[in-house]
Amino acid sequence: MPFESPHPPIDIPSKESIWSFFFDSAYSPLSASTASTPLAGYTDASTGAFLSYSDVKAKATALSTALVCNHGFTPGDTVILFSQNSIWYPVAMFGVLRAGGVVSGASPAYGVEEMEYALRTSGAKFLMTHPESLSVAVKAAEAVGLGREKVFLIEGEKEGFCGLQELIEEVKGQEEVEAWRGVRAKGNGNVCAFLSFSSGTTGLPKAVMISHQNVIAQCLQMLVITPKDLDRVLAVLPLFHITGLVHILHLPILLNANVIMLPSFSMPTMLSTVVKYKIKELLLVPPLLIRLVRDPIVASYDLSHVTRFSSGAAPLSQEILDLLQKKFPNTGFKQGYGMTESCSCITGHPPSFYNYKYAHAVGQIMPSTSVKIIAEDGTEASFNQPGEILAKGPQITMGYLNNETATRDTYDDEGYLHTGDQGFISPKGLLTITDRIKEMIKVNGHAVAPAELEDLLLGHVAIEDVAVLGIPHPVSGEAPKAFIVLKPDTSATNSRQAIQKMGNELLEFVKGKKIRYKWLAEIEFVEVIPKSPSGKILRRVLKDRAKKGEIGI
Ligand code: AMP
Repeated sequence: MPFESPHPPIDIPSKESIWSFFFDSAYSPLSASTASTPLAGYTDASTGAFLSYSDVKAKATALSTALVCNHGFTPGDTVILFSQNSIWYPVAMFGVLRAGGVVSGASPAYGVEEMEYALRTSGAKFLMTHPESLSVAVKAAEAVGLGREKVFLIEGEKEGFCGLQELIEEVKGQEEVEAWRGVRAKGNGNVCAFLSFSSGTTGLPKAVMISHQNVIAQCLQMLVITPKDLDRVLAVLPLFHITGLVHILHLPILLNANVIMLPSFSMPTMLSTVVKYKIKELLLVPPLLIRLVRDPIVASYDLSHVTRFSSGAAPLSQEILDLLQKKFPNTGFKQGYGMTESCSCITGHPPSFYNYKYAHAVGQIMPSTSVKIIAEDGTEASFNQPGEILAKGPQITMGYLNNETATRDTYDDEGYLHTGDQGFISPKGLLTITDRIKEMIKVNGHAVAPAELEDLLLGHVAIEDVAVLGIPHPVSGEAPKAFIVLKPDTSATNSRQAIQKMGNELLEFVKGKKIRYKWLAEIEFVEVIPKSPSGKILRRVLKDRAKKGEIGI
């Protein structure tokens, strides 16, 4: 029997689109029956600029009108948002959703080839970007044949490019187009709203199709376990990742909570923002919590108003939890666990478990969600017995775009998502993660697909074969390491010096092509990569050999 949520099941509306639910339904702080005053919104921590939820609604309405009436946008079109955190990001996102489009978030630090891959895989018809990312955006758009007239600036100005504010001005005085009604007709579980990238349990990054229902359901599930005093949300985590998408861009609207956006990260800006806006709950990832307990700069800020830390996206060690509790003794602690494919949380701590004695666990099963733990022998595990975590619920996404094989391998016939994570459930209903059995590497909370780095390295003239694995890293949690077999005729194998030189060349090769968190921390040259008879890399064998000290990991 599966493990069930300890919370009562919730009702999830099936006809509402994200637009109607967040801006027009009884759940919205804007609805006439529940109108909240004062109305919260998004604040830019660096400039103080503020857009209330009603400003966002008005601007997104105008944007969708401009896109549909003047720029050839049709429902179902995908728009990539390629931008740092910005208060204009939600305007762009809700504008596209209102017009019946699909939004795909991309890391603002992507290089040209990564952006090209995102554009091709998502089939994007438009690109909205920030001046900081514009040159990469333009090169990638050119490479896939996307015209400049389809590239817009989310904020700021650059000659030759139209900005969101201009688009909004374009339709001033013009009758607004109606919000797209397709969701009502098709049911919100059948219409894709977001394409977010994840490598899943194996292979290259794939576009996960997230439905309108997934986002609405996840927010309603979160409401059950979120205290009503959450009035300010720190937006330091990136908006393109599933955590930002749910917990920064959507959930705060239902709570009428203010979102304080940090366009870029540094410890001083984050800390001074927390102090200035008296943010009580800090939504962070393990590398940031590590910096909070280790970085001496923290002592210069009065964080005594902070009552709670919230973590997710990657494992956190007991050592860091102990240090956190010691340094901030008056705080509570909560975690969320899930993945892009589960539209964020499968489990989370409810308020009665905001205590450090439960912090090693990742919380209880979300409302209306079932979890199975499949032990090594294939049977369903009982309490405290570890195995692979499978989850089923309204937040489990639709599958991978144009990739039926990967979808079938990850989402089973009974509707369970196979997470590739291992864990156990205690009699208190708390899930503890014990291992990650999938290939994915987590660097600073970002997912890195070994297959992506292997693909790149195999294209190098000197490389015969390669396997990439995650190695433990004291700050980023993990870092990628490549095991490389050089081509037999490579002169690099002639001397120690030549090998060293080749190692450096390969490190630089990856740096030139990939975003920083994918850079290799180490390279080791080996004779052979262990493979199964079908040619699959035996990563477990490499890991086990490393544990025995046979290869340096
Ligand atoms: P992503 O799709 O980038 O959100 O990555 C999802 C993966 O991150 C999960 O499958 C886990 O391996 C890992 N993960 C997410 N949350 C946690 C957590 N609270 N503790 C440990 N690992 C986590």
